[in-house]
Amino acid sequence: MKKCPFCAEEIQDDAVKCRHCKEFLAGRAQSEAQASRPWYFRTPTVIGMILCLLALALPLVWWNPYYSRKTKIIVTVIVVVVTYLTWVATAQTLKMLQEYYKFL
Ligand SMILES: [Zn+2]
Repeated sequence: MKKCPFCAEEIQDDAVKCRHCKEFLAGRAQSEAQASRPWYFRTPTVIGMILCLLALALPLVWWNPYYSRKTKIIVTVIVVVVTYLTWVATAQTLKMLQEYYKFL
């Protein structure tokens, strides 16, 4: 049991909403913390940038003070792999196109 920070009544440890005063606890604090971040450090922005810019979006991840070092490393590895695969696929497509044009 813990105390509700709004009404000081006893509530369950993993309660999301206080049953006495109907205030939201952890969920509300978390979404407020997310909303107070600058837009370029919010997770949807960072993911969107990565999808558009791939490796060019990495500084946004590394400068983000809200991500742990582990998260940064995992994201970097994923982005590098995806960028590499995209590059290989593009190179192969160009090669195929070149060979295709030779037949014309
Ligand atoms: Zn309460």
